[in-house]
Amino acid sequence: MITQIARADARSLAYAKELIFKGEAVAFHTETVYGLGADAGKDDAVRRIFSLKGRPADNPLIAHVHADYDISPLIDREPSYAGKLRRAFLPGPLTMVYPSTGKVSPLVSCGLNTLAIRVPSSPTAQAFLRAVNLPVAAPSANRSKHVSPVTAEHVYDDFAGEIPLILDGGACAGGIESTVLDCTGEIPVILRAGLVTREQIASVAGECGVYVKKAGEKPKSPGMAYKHYAPRCKTAYYTEESLGEAEACYLREQAAGGAPCFLCGSGLAEALAARGFHALDLGGTGEEMAQKLYLELRRAERTATLLIAIEPKLRGGVMDGVMNRFTRAFGRNTDEA
Ligand code: AMP
Ligand code: MG
Repeated sequence: MITQIARADARSLAYAKELIFKGEAVAFHTETVYGLGADAGKDDAVRRIFSLKGRPADNPLIAHVHADYDISPLIDREPSYAGKLRRAFLPGPLTMVYPSTGKVSPLVSCGLNTLAIRVPSSPTAQAFLRAVNLPVAAPSANRSKHVSPVTAEHVYDDFAGEIPLILDGGACAGGIESTVLDCTGEIPVILRAGLVTREQIASVAGECGVYVKKAGEKPKSPGMAYKHYAPRCKTAYYTEESLGEAEACYLREQAAGGAPCFLCGSGLAEALAARGFHALDLGGTGEEMAQKLYLELRRAERTATLLIAIEPKLRGGVMDGVMNRFTRAFGRNTDEA
């Protein structure tokens, strides 16, 4: 199969629609990361997404719809705070989990009685979703466990020859996945931190919880239990306090003939580069780090044999989401077992 990369225009959108109606998968740009979409109403189409990605069968997908799509037939009830959040943040990088009416394939939610719904703001995603005018089940368009894709080329690297079309909208401005918010209870609860922050949600809804999995409990957002975002090279993880050890690790790899590389925030990246180390710069703010994290992980894995992360010191806001992805990419996740 030839994999086409095309900007969203009348021709590529007509092709995308034809493919989705046939039950095929189409990759598309969003403002967070690229998605790999299929008709959420067709079991076989949804199954195809899981098999293409090698995604565990108990990790549910998000149903994507365009901004004017009426979601009321899909959801059983909407708490008043959820309506307010929708009006405040959608279209945008916020996924809302509702009690489901079971109108889409049960495979989308992996048998859960809830449905995650997202309305992306990317013009490419909107044009695609309007063209098909149905809920599109889509996870990130990467092989399971690999770094999420933030350019059409990243999607191509993972799926060339296996999917017919990638709708190219350029590099993703957000850079990390959407915030996943449980809207089934009394108050909204963040299941996965992302670009819409807890502070922003609380300012509209009055309050906002953060889900913490209890020992032995099945995670509410099953995807969070898996290793994720791993670059395809060796990795190491240090804090700024143990920079001496990190440098020793770098020099050992270099002496062994490898190509080590640091990944860290702006000031430190410059200081390391000035001393002759190869260092990738994640930027100086949470937003910048979100935008550059997957880009730099995908860049590093092409040339580095060892990627040495130095934990950024910034916290709060978008950094909650960045740190979640950062620690997972380096096998240091402490969110759950
Ligand atoms: P991805 O599309 O690869 O970013 O993954 C989708 C994320 O949304 C995963 O972390 C899923 O566990 C989560 N998710 C999707 N549907 C639901 C749902 N019904 N309830 C809770 N989490 C969900
Ligand atoms: Mg993913």
